[in-house]
This record gives sequence, C-alpha cells and structure tokens, in this order.
Amino acid sequence: MLTDLALSPNPPRELRADACICGAGPAGITLALELARRRPDWHIVLLEGGGSGVPSERERLLYDVGVGEKPYAVAASRRRMLGGTSAHWGGWCKPLDPEDFRAPADWSVPDWPITPEELAPFLVAAHLWCEIPSDRYDPAEVRARQPRRFLELPADGPVCERLFRFSPPTRFGTRYLEDLRGQANLDLFLHANLVSFERRGDRIVSASASPLGGRPIRIQSERFVLSQGGLETTRTLLNLRGDASDDGEGLRSPHLGRHFADHYGVRPGSILASEELGYRRITDQETAVMPVLAPSPSALDRAGRQNVCLMLDPDPGNASLPTPYARNAALGFLPREFLNYRAQMIVEPRPNPDSRITLTDARCELGLRRARLDWKLDPRDVESALGFFNELSNLLAQTGQGRARQTYQASAAQLASAMGANHHLGTLRFSRDPKDGVTDADGRLHDMDNLYVLSSALFPRYGYSNPTLTLVALAARLASRWSAQAPEAQP
Ligand SMILES: Cc1cc2nc3c(=O)[nH]c(=O)nc-3n(C[C@H](O)[C@H](O)[C@H](O)COP(=O)(O)OP(=O)(O)OC[C@H]3O[C@@H](n4cnc5c(N)ncnc54)[C@H](O)[C@@H]3O)c2cc1C
Repeated sequence: MLTDLALSPNPPRELRADACICGAGPAGITLALELARRRPDWHIVLLEGGGSGVPSERERLLYDVGVGEKPYAVAASRRRMLGGTSAHWGGWCKPLDPEDFRAPADWSVPDWPITPEELAPFLVAAHLWCEIPSDRYDPAEVRARQPRRFLELPADGPVCERLFRFSPPTRFGTRYLEDLRGQANLDLFLHANLVSFERRGDRIVSASASPLGGRPIRIQSERFVLSQGGLETTRTLLNLRGDASDDGEGLRSPHLGRHFADHYGVRPGSILASEELGYRRITDQETAVMPVLAPSPSALDRAGRQNVCLMLDPDPGNASLPTPYARNAALGFLPREFLNYRAQMIVEPRPNPDSRITLTDARCELGLRRARLDWKLDPRDVESALGFFNELSNLLAQTGQGRARQTYQASAAQLASAMGANHHLGTLRFSRDPKDGVTDADGRLHDMDNLYVLSSALFPRYGYSNPTLTLVALAARLASRWSAQAPEAQP
C-alpha cells in the first residue's frame, strides 16, 4: 500500500513492522521488494522522505550540505524523491574486479568482509533489477566477435581488458512503483522523513518520520535499515551519535564519517593507435558495452597501486601525435590506419581518513544538524593512473601498435579542479573486525543489535567500477540473509 503523508487526511500514527527501511532509492526499493517477496510472513515498512515527483525547493533544502575547501557539486549529486538518485543516474554498470575486495597491506584499509564469490549469486539478481541485458563481463567474448576493436595484449603483460555494461538506465521510482503498491505485506510512505529514533541500549525500538510541517508517524520494528544514500545515512548516524565520543565501535567508531571518496577522471594525454579500436561505448549483439583497458591483476599486486581504467575517445583533430608519423616504416608501426585518441581514465581513489563528513551547528527544518563535506584526494591516485598510462605507452611502442604522449602535469591545481562522479563511498565502511570499520558484513552497526546500513558508503575499498550494481547486489544479499532461502533472481 502507498500512503503519501503530505496528502493523506488520516494516516496511521503507530505501526509495527518486521523491517523498517528508511530511504527508497535503488538500495531501499530492491531490499523492500526482495524482502517482501521472500518473507510473506513479514510486514515491511518503506519510508521515503520525498514524493514521487521533482522535489520542491523546501525539500531540496533538507539536503543542503556545507562544503570544505575542495568544491563538490552536492546538490547535483542526489535526488530526494521516490527512486532516489536513480532519477539522475547514467546507468554505467560493472561488478568490482576481484582484486578490489582486498586492500594492499600498506594501505591500512580492511579487506571487504565478503568475497566476490559470496556476492556473485546476488549480482545475477542485481542485473535483473537494473535491467541490464546480460551479466557476462568477459571482454574476450566481445573480442571474438569484433577482434579489430581491440589491441593485441600479451597474456602475462601489465595491461588487460575489462567490460562495462549499461542499465537503460532504470529509474527505480517509476519502474517499480506498481510493484511497491501491489505488494500486500509492504507499506510505502511518501513524504515520510526519518527524523529520530527511540533507542534502548543497543536496540532501536522505534523510528519517527514526518512530512514537512506535519504530524509524525511512529514505527516499531524488529530491525531498521538506513538506505538514505551515502551522505545522508552518514549524517543520520552522526546525529544519532550526538555528543558521544568517537573512540568506540559502531556508532562510536572513529571511522564513522571518514574515508569519504568519489571516483574522478584524469585525462592523461593522447594515444595514436589503430583507427578501429573500440575502448568506448560500442554495440555488441545489439546491446551497449564498453571495453576498457586496465592494469592486469598481477601488475596490480606487484605495484600495490590503485586500480584504474582507461577509455579512448577518437580525436581526429588532435595533431600532438600526427598520423603520418605512423606511416614511417622505420619507427616499426604495424601496417594499419592510425588515429589520434584522447585517453580518459577513471581513477580508484585511495581511502583517506581526512576526507570526511562532519556535522555543523546549523540545523535543517527537521531539526537535524547539517552535514559538512571535506573531500580530500590523495596525490597517489594520479601517480597510479599515470604509472598505468606509462605501462600502456611502453606496450604500444614495443608491439608497434601505437604511441602515447602524456600531457597531464600533476599539480595541486589539477587535483583541486577534479570533479566527482556522484558516488558517495567509504564513510560507513564494513569490516570483519569492529576496530576497522563501522558495520559488519551485513551492514549492521558493530555495536547495535538491529540497526543496519545499506549504501555504497559501506565499501572499504572502491575500485573504479560505478557502485550501484554492487549496492543492489548487497540489497539482494541482505534480503536473502534474512529469509534463509537460497539466493535467486527476483524481479
Ligand atoms: C548524475 C549522476 C549520474 C550517476 N551515474 C551513475 C552510473 O552511471 N552508475 C552508477 O552505478 N551510479 C551512478 N550514479 C550514482 C547512483 O545514482 C547512486 O549510486 C545510487 O542512486 C545510490 O542509491 P541509494 O539507494 O544508496 O541512494 P539514493 O539513490 O540517493 O536514494 C536515497 C533515498 O533516501 C531518501 N531519503 C534521504 N533522506 C531521507 C530521510 N531522512 N527519510 C526518508 N528518506 C530519505 C531519498 O529521498 C532517496 O529516495 C550517478 C549519480 C548521479 C547524480
């Protein structure tokens, strides 16, 4: 059932639930529907602060965040409405690489508390939720059909290929509205802003949610899940912590709010290579795919560097590596038509404890302290990216497949102007050992009995893949954990 608290003349004041999910973006909607279908004996309450349409100025102000020295386009990076930021997302999808689940020893970052193998069955379901036509990510399959789109890469060399796929992109709020409405054991409340919790020791007893300027409803539940997005969930937990110290576990973990990260791009320079290459969005078997170049697993292990991927945009007007150069047989180029490309890399940010979300003394209309975001980058991110570009450059020259020219000059100004990709990572990281993170492998706060987080803020190491597919898989995994059923695809 759907109730809009801003419109309903007589909403219930008190509810009981088995699971109360706060925030109806991709994470909250997937969890709510998976859970409702797997557990017909449970009553699920899904609270959404926004409505089903574009948020009003008053609603947008609830999301206002102070920003530190480095600019961050917070307002453009989230949507407060049913479906959350999926109303804006671009639909780029790729599972993390297996290497992204383990952090090199000198990073002081915990490994993921779940393995790629544990997550794999839930990625199958995530592809259905995100309406991605295939869950196969072996670039060799595309190469077999379109060999000229690819470089020839030595099997044991420093460079390998990976593949992205694309969601249409699925707008979760509209795509799954009827499913939410039609689910008998699920109550969806719109304009139901989570405002406060009633807490008894390590248990949350109830949550209060209210429309702007309206009367609150109170939900008692066995378990509560915060799926308000990475920034807002962090803000909610910092508000819940209040003045308590940050030298403990879970809610009092020193990691709460730290290690904020977002993916960002670096344009390292130009590449002169075969005009037929397809390291960008191309069509394969009538679907969109994007092959990319990336460090091979052995090169990543050896160097202990961040992961990174590289795409190539045709740039015929670029004369920095003129095509006639490639016709000089003495330089050892393979007999091909060559083209200039602009290289674009997505960098894996290195977790940085000083990059963080804190609270200010200002309060929003709901009475909650506002957040402040101090996004800080680590210069080693770009060093890693340029290290990979250099390896690719050597490979192209040694094999006669091309030349690369680095034009990027690392500087503080370059880092200061880097733009984020709107992925809010790291501030509530999960860990096996309570000392290393905020929550356990299920997203349950290490010091709480029934309070969970479901967000890309759980990721302790980030890789370069866009996070939503993995987040949706985590939602399916949590529903499966609570239903003790074999994992299966649901939509
Ligand atoms: C322009 C853009 C492009 C993007 N492109 C991609 C892409 O190509 N690939 C990719 O993987 N990711 C992409 N993303 C990121 C993607 O949108 C997020 O990873 C994803 O939406 C996160 O899902 P979520 O459910 O955690 O949070 P959100 O989608 O932010 O949803 C959170 C929900 O919680 C609600 N909420 C917040 N506070 C409260 C409260 N107090 N009470 C009740 N409800 C509350 C919000 O209204 C919202 O509905 C993009 C983002 C942007 C902005």
